[in-house]
Amino acid sequence: MTFHIMTLFPEMLEAFFNESIIGRAQKSGAVKVKLYNIRDYTIDKHRKVDDTPYGGGCGMVMTCQPIVDCHKAIISEISGSVKTIYMSPQGRVFNQGIAEEFKEYDNLILLCGHYEGVDERAIEIVADEELSVGDYVLTGGELPAAIVCDSVARLCDGVLPSSECYEEESHQDGLLEYPHYTKPYEYSGKTVPDVLISGHHANITKWRREQAILRTKEKRPDLYEKYTKRDADF
Ligand code: SAM
Repeated sequence: MTFHIMTLFPEMLEAFFNESIIGRAQKSGAVKVKLYNIRDYTIDKHRKVDDTPYGGGCGMVMTCQPIVDCHKAIISEISGSVKTIYMSPQGRVFNQGIAEEFKEYDNLILLCGHYEGVDERAIEIVADEELSVGDYVLTGGELPAAIVCDSVARLCDGVLPSSECYEEESHQDGLLEYPHYTKPYEYSGKTVPDVLISGHHANITKWRREQAILRTKEKRPDLYEKYTKRDADF
């Protein structure tokens, strides 16, 4: 999987993608992240990439030409399946199911807007879909793009040690994950549940499943309701 991120602020993302799990995954070749500075594609002699909105109003709007040309350049250098996503508060709201859907592509191209947003015609020309990270407005699409790449990347082969690492995690099967404990056994008067030190694997599995169901019911009744409609082991 290669993530291609179109942005006016690649420096905002460089450190994020070069560190920790995604940084290591890039070094091992499990995923690639390519950052494209949209400004490098402008043909404006002053390197302008935005302009005032037709009809008036505050803020600047990112112009079509650098975005469309940047996108063309990316498309011309890649092979395999590709999906182009415009990060937007107006899009489908991202979740784990969408991350699963996206991991099947060879390439994801993510367009980050900034300021007042992007000229609608550029969105119509390059984007297959608009995607939101939630019902709130951020200053730019860089953080949303990082969220999407991070969550899709961890599902790609070779990024985590094995698929077991994410199969039981929150949202993977509609439930929140069970609680975790590590050493020491006692901390601040609180001890680890006995079942976890029993060495009895079947009991541990059963306890974890029960905890996952209980905490979903407690913390996310909306998810619990969907789960009870879908599954019977509650
Ligand atoms: N004027 C736009 C509107 O009201 O729909 C919002 C523009 S926002 C200030 C600037 C950019 O941030 C957007 O073009 C988009 O790329 C990104 N952005 C902001 N909130 C977002 C969200 N919830 N999800 C994804 N991208 C978002």
